[in-house]
Amino acid sequence: MEPLPRTTRPEGTRPFHALGADDVLRQFGSGLSGLDETEARLRLERYGRNELAPAQRRGPLRRLIGQFNNILLYVMMGAAVVTASLEHWLDTGVLLAAIVINAIIGFIQEGKAETALDAIRTMLAPHALVIRGGRRYEIKAAALVPGDVVVLNPGDRVPADLRLIAAKELRIDEAALTGESLPVDKSVAPVPNNATPADQSCMAFSGTVCVQGQASGVIVATGATTELGQINRMLAGIQRAATPLIQQINKFSYWLALVILALGALTFLFGTLVRDLPPSDMFMMVVAMVASAIPEGLPVVLTVTLALGVQRMARQKAVVRRLAAVETLGSVTVICTDKTGTLTRNEMTVERIVCAGRVVEVSGVGYMPAGAFFVDGRQIGAGSDPVLAQAIRAGVLCNDAALRKADEHWFVEGDPTEGALLVLGHKAGLTPDALSSAWPRVDSLPFESVNRYMATHHVGPDERPWIFAKGAPERILELCDSQSDLAGTAALDVDYWRRMATDLAARGLRLLAIAEKPAEPDGPLMADADLGGHFTMLALVGIVDLPREEAIRSVRDCHAAGISVKMITGDHADTARAIGAQLSIGMGKPSLTGSEIALMDTGTLQRVVSDVDIFARASPEHKLRLVQALQLNGHTVAMTGDGVNDAPALKRADVGVAMGLKGTEAAKDAADLILADDNFATIVVAVREGRAVYDNVKKFMLFMLPTNGGEALLIIAALIFGLTLPLTAVQVLWINMATASTLGLALAFEPAERNIMRRRPRPPAASLFPLFFVWRIVYVSFLMMGVALALFLWEIDNGASLSAARTMAVNTVVFSEMFYLICSRYITESVLSLEGLTGNRYVLFAIAASIVLQVLYTHASFMQRIFGSSSLSPMDWSKVIAASFLVFLAAELEKAVVRGIQERDPVLLPSKGIP
Ligand code: ADP
Ligand code: MG
Repeated sequence: MEPLPRTTRPEGTRPFHALGADDVLRQFGSGLSGLDETEARLRLERYGRNELAPAQRRGPLRRLIGQFNNILLYVMMGAAVVTASLEHWLDTGVLLAAIVINAIIGFIQEGKAETALDAIRTMLAPHALVIRGGRRYEIKAAALVPGDVVVLNPGDRVPADLRLIAAKELRIDEAALTGESLPVDKSVAPVPNNATPADQSCMAFSGTVCVQGQASGVIVATGATTELGQINRMLAGIQRAATPLIQQINKFSYWLALVILALGALTFLFGTLVRDLPPSDMFMMVVAMVASAIPEGLPVVLTVTLALGVQRMARQKAVVRRLAAVETLGSVTVICTDKTGTLTRNEMTVERIVCAGRVVEVSGVGYMPAGAFFVDGRQIGAGSDPVLAQAIRAGVLCNDAALRKADEHWFVEGDPTEGALLVLGHKAGLTPDALSSAWPRVDSLPFESVNRYMATHHVGPDERPWIFAKGAPERILELCDSQSDLAGTAALDVDYWRRMATDLAARGLRLLAIAEKPAEPDGPLMADADLGGHFTMLALVGIVDLPREEAIRSVRDCHAAGISVKMITGDHADTARAIGAQLSIGMGKPSLTGSEIALMDTGTLQRVVSDVDIFARASPEHKLRLVQALQLNGHTVAMTGDGVNDAPALKRADVGVAMGLKGTEAAKDAADLILADDNFATIVVAVREGRAVYDNVKKFMLFMLPTNGGEALLIIAALIFGLTLPLTAVQVLWINMATASTLGLALAFEPAERNIMRRRPRPPAASLFPLFFVWRIVYVSFLMMGVALALFLWEIDNGASLSAARTMAVNTVVFSEMFYLICSRYITESVLSLEGLTGNRYVLFAIAASIVLQVLYTHASFMQRIFGSSSLSPMDWSKVIAASFLVFLAAELEKAVVRGIQERDPVLLPSKGIP
């Protein structure tokens, strides 16, 4: 039968929530084993991708118009009108050109920021588990079609509107749709025709989040036809809200603009009243001065700097979801991280098995299913030891993973811990294929990190039901009252198992206990965690999971950078400590377990939390308390997580970090940063880039403010001392057009400084603008003004024409800016090295472009007509360059002095590299 999307449901037929699941499946031409690939492809073409239209963005025209909405352009447009009414057409022309160029630069820069962020949005595309042709696949949610059967697990976001086919203790958070914050229970029973979406308990709606249980359902609507699509609410993408830094800077530039306007008014009064200059000339002069002094590019360049940082991080697999997180990353003082898969490789191999009375070693590496079993160094056949075989069989059956092979390479789909048990089964000749037909599974309780065990219910070859359980030894031992040994079943020797568990853990092995029991023939299925006890303990399994090489290095980097690293794991304390030692985490310090944390009040936890780096047997709720305790101690905390229960801790942390591969959609939603490779080292990369972005913002300000200041000072000084003005109004506008924000923008591309991870973290409350910066800005402003003014006066004194002297002044200002741009690459470090002088090619491009412009300005006749410039001789050029070079030397000299003071008096100028 033809599939019927919601929108074309014939009049009079009943809605999907009023029909049985079978009927809906049939209507969509689907079944329990899903669609086949060909049909799915056809439907994708027919119904389109399962996506909502991208958020309404400002079109290019509106973005361009938006550029004119700033104080500076108001001033300049006002001035253009005034000069036009005075019929000073040249001035009007130059002003208009300056206005247009400013707007275009802003437009292009903003576009750059947009594209950088767009690219990242697609990296955040959600995935979904779909059943097609009877097999499970993980695919991009956008490729789902009506009729597809999808599977939901806790933490998944519902990828489309579903009619549930099967649901087990399913609860869904529908806040995204209904605003109701309490999760609602779902089941498969049809509901009345006229039920509202909130009451359609047999439907799961796109955009809502599964918080508990399991389910499968058939898709009845995708993309824009879903409930969510119809009310047209957007799924969360990157939020482009102004970050604290941008807000701070916006406010700063607003006040600075007002101060500059006031100064301009004073200059106008001084020039006309005291110096008796003609008001119309003076007016034009002041407008030009104000235009060059206002840091109009600042907010835009900031956004670009942040966006470029986001892009650089994304290239290194750290995906930022909130722009503001880029700033926070730079001040992180504590990173709390999961162990398994983040610090370790997550390639698990069973190394030891402890049965009652003997220890079996297993050979082989990784997931390759080749290896043998040894007792006391002698090889044994797995079949020769019935208890061992029983344990391995239970491990293979109580298992949701799959072992696959592609291009001679073995890999695990699903939980690596379970994958290790499958590999173990292969080594013993017990493969899932062979076992699952003899032992069909009836029901299961999947692993959850809060319970730390998993159990499955099977029917054995003799038609008797069995339950297999595996999990953390303390949890499994609680369920057992007997153990299996070679002689049969004996009373449980708890001490023996505890001792052996400690022994395995101390070797850094991850622990699993395996147990089984016959179930009552018609007992209840496993609806809840009540397994009833009376299990027989079979074996303890020890699994190796080596630390990642790069994690070892990154932990060392963190320590050098003044960031402490805390490991939070569900594993045994001894396992955690042994792995911690290999990573240099928590050495010589006590560790805490989840149950100990549970007994502490907040005050106690706050007191001890700084001294503990390893938290074992911890669950998600402990993470939240740890974040809070650390924050109370004034820390800026980054916290990792992957499960749905981790979301509160991720939200609470200053930087919530979710795993891109094994993380649930719920965790990703709550996070600020997503690790595309689940790797601890990537967090450290992000911290490093976060610091670099903050540095670049400061570098830009330290470049832009004194260069603007220098030009303004040049005119004010000439007026105050009654000198001939070294620059005309149009010349000031030229300098502004040719250099403003184009030169400085190159600093947004500045890579992280060499020593960036050897500094302490920036205190979150640190001023963006320390006193030292004020000094630097004043110093460099006077330097630039002094050099240009001195050369100008010297030339006039030596009989140069006014036009030539002014041309030299203009060139001196621009060339000083170029030299100072190089200085600005490092705030206090010297740039006198090959890397320092040439390390940023954008700086070199910007300088080359400016040189071309200045040569044109000086020698092209049309420029000479517009700006009143005149050609310079090689001798004149040498003087210009020598004078500008003085600025470079003096600026580098100041840095040397600052470095000296820093070394001698770290209190006056704290920490290396002030930022
Ligand atoms: P972490 O992710 O920090 O290693 P987990 O919560 O995954 O911690 O695991 C905690 C403990 O739960 C493990 O030490 C192990 O004993 C047990 N465990 C882990 N995975 C499984 C699983 N798939 N089935 C049963 N038990 C498991
Ligand atoms: Mg885990």
